[in-house]
Amino acid sequence: MSVVDTVRVGIGYDIHRLVEGRRLVMGGIEIPHAKGLLGHSDADVVLHAVTDAILGAAGLPDIGDLFPDSDPSYKDADSRKLLAEAMEKVRAKGFVVNNVDIIVHAEAPKLSPYKRRMAESIAALIHVSSDQVSVKAKTNEGLGPLGYADAIACTAVATIVRGIG
Ligand code: MG
Repeated sequence: MSVVDTVRVGIGYDIHRLVEGRRLVMGGIEIPHAKGLLGHSDADVVLHAVTDAILGAAGLPDIGDLFPDSDPSYKDADSRKLLAEAMEKVRAKGFVVNNVDIIVHAEAPKLSPYKRRMAESIAALIHVSSDQVSVKAKTNEGLGPLGYADAIACTAVATIVRGIG
């Protein structure tokens, strides 16, 4: 271990297809929309990116290794529970989350009415205050699968620090 090990950075990215007949769940909250994200779990693209960012910062295996989609026990899994399990592993290594910065890449729906609630939901899951979680929403300017609203992607960066006490 290096002598200086006070702050660590991790990055996470995820993408899921938008399809009819599914709920749209992002950041642990349900968002009204005609389509939802397709996936083995609840397909919460935001929590998946956040989870990977935090796991990466802690030097832990990624979300796909910890919660494989080949495992039937994770079918329709609540991603809040996956994040809680990941947080337990991070805590066991002596880290707490310092902040998380998130970009949701979504042509639709408009996310500005939900960004604050998403940040509050995520903050509660990772044991920080809501001003330590930033949620930004960007369209893809009509370009490519994201721009055609065939999918929603998320990029997240997390910093973690050694917990005190
Ligand atoms: Mg995912």
